[in-house]
Amino acid sequence: MTFGRPSVWEDGVMARIEQRPAGPTHEVFNQAAALENYNVFGEDRPLTEALRREGAGWAEDRALQVGEVAGRARTLRWGAEANENAPTLRTHDRLGNRIDEVEFHPAWHELMRIGIGHGLHALPWREPQPGAHVARAAMFIALSQAEAGVGCPISMTYSAIPALRAQPQLVQEWESRFLSLEYDERLVPAPDKTGALCGMAMTEKQGGSDVRANTTAARPVNGGGPGAEYELTGHKWFCSAPMCDAFLVLAQADGGLSCFLLPRFTPDGDRNRFHIQRLKDKLGNRSNASSEVEFRAAWARLIGEEGRGVPTIIEMVNHTRLDCTIGSTAGMRAGVANAIHHCAQRSAFGKRLIEQPLMRNVLADLAVESEAATVSAMRLARTYDEDAPELRRLATPVLKYWTCKRGPAHTVEALECFGGNGYVEESGMPRLFRESPLASIWEGSGNVQCLDVLRAMARNPASVDAYFAEVDEAADAEPRLDSYAASVRDELTDLEQIEARARRVVERMALALQGSLLVRYGDPAVADAFCASRLAGEWSGAFGTLPAGTDFGAIIERHAPHV
Ligand SMILES: Cc1cc2nc3c(=O)[nH]c(=O)nc-3n(C[C@H](O)[C@H](O)[C@H](O)COP(=O)(O)OP(=O)(O)OC[C@H]3O[C@@H](n4cnc5c(N)ncnc54)[C@H](O)[C@@H]3O)c2cc1C
Repeated sequence: MTFGRPSVWEDGVMARIEQRPAGPTHEVFNQAAALENYNVFGEDRPLTEALRREGAGWAEDRALQVGEVAGRARTLRWGAEANENAPTLRTHDRLGNRIDEVEFHPAWHELMRIGIGHGLHALPWREPQPGAHVARAAMFIALSQAEAGVGCPISMTYSAIPALRAQPQLVQEWESRFLSLEYDERLVPAPDKTGALCGMAMTEKQGGSDVRANTTAARPVNGGGPGAEYELTGHKWFCSAPMCDAFLVLAQADGGLSCFLLPRFTPDGDRNRFHIQRLKDKLGNRSNASSEVEFRAAWARLIGEEGRGVPTIIEMVNHTRLDCTIGSTAGMRAGVANAIHHCAQRSAFGKRLIEQPLMRNVLADLAVESEAATVSAMRLARTYDEDAPELRRLATPVLKYWTCKRGPAHTVEALECFGGNGYVEESGMPRLFRESPLASIWEGSGNVQCLDVLRAMARNPASVDAYFAEVDEAADAEPRLDSYAASVRDELTDLEQIEARARRVVERMALALQGSLLVRYGDPAVADAFCASRLAGEWSGAFGTLPAGTDFGAIIERHAPHV
């Protein structure tokens, strides 16, 4: 091994220095070109295979179209521009009237137009058929790699539909607007628009996870009841995408915490008393606006029964949790694709980084994690297509917890593959890094997911059976998986201090599920590396710690994007 003066210098660099003509101080070489102008979907083999396997082969051409657009240099540039030029709030017009408008950079609108135009907010509701949620998940994974911020309003609009369906009059009025493929950015009354977006406002200052602490009050205008008019007074500490046309909101009615649809305009065409106080100055997700809002007797309509707010809005939250899982999967894919692409071009110490044994271990390990996330996220998406409520109930928080928890660690390591360049904005890696913790906080943070898993298992034992039935689909195929699954089963029978142990329990449930899917469907080298590290080894969780005998070459080649 050569420290100090590396052999690559002896091979070529000194010769170049000696031949340097007078003029520029240096020649630029050994810098890796950006990963762009490639098909984000088509070059993702685990994702392409999962799309076919999980019942959405019919959507492959459409996913390829989104993948091609998402990988274009122009689209990737829009992603950067939308973040460099964060949205701004205009509370009043020049005459002093409240307007509560958010202004976005044109790049944001371009990205939104791509997402809405391809139906990422609506596909399963517009075209209900087997594989529709899977198809949408694949397209969402592709577009998120160009820019994740637009995923927020797109995901909320997609997720609002099942909650809205609890109130038929509102479905009649709003659903076709939310399902439109036209992106209409204007803040005008919804009946005048060609398409509309839906947001969600639950979190208040005194409580986000614990929404029962909400104090926003709902007063019926004409007696109240399902679908009736109410006035809401209170505040919301987080309300993302406040430029949406309507929001699902939780507020306290006489009958308890209830779910409302609150539009930006009242039926007579006036601006609703929905006042945006300020936009949050966030770590990442900067292209997207997240706000604090006050409702001053804001006009809204009840969805479902008074007091049934949580069960009503949970229909929405389940889908946004699915999107957190697939969003983190997208971040991991972006990380590993960029890292492999960089290391294939950059040399150090006489070899390309991708040929250095220790870097091969890191890249392969990142790829294993990305493939585990992909197969499990896509399997989860299929539970939303199928009549599989038990598996969906448990697998959603299990995978939301673990996939989102692995995201930031994965991104940090992918960033480090770039060396110093990874710490510099132009590489795109800092943006990916800043985005990465968000999915774990959104829609119920890590602990809340783990407690939800315990709740699901206690209240719905059939969900545990459905979970093990899925894991056991790979029974007898891989001894390391069999013994790991048996140990998870044993662990679940031990209720001693289960709440304090919940993270470890849920992590192990996620690993057993991912292991089962990889053994059945993953690349053999990937499945072997997963079992050897995550299931059977003394795994530290750090990347680059796969056993030395792993088939690094096969794993890296499988995940390498070809430009
Ligand atoms: C960028 C951004 C955008 C957002 N957009 C929206 C939006 O559009 N609409 C909306 O309604 N909300 C939104 N949120 C809010 C988000 O959903 C909440 O922040 C999240 O649910 C956590 O709630 P909290 O912030 O009140 O934290 P808390 O509830 O105070 O939780 C703090 C910590 O305590 C943990 N914790 C809570 N209860 C327990 C327990 N029983 N045992 C152990 N640990 C526990 C949590 O896991 C968390 O780690 C957004 C947040 C962010 C960061």
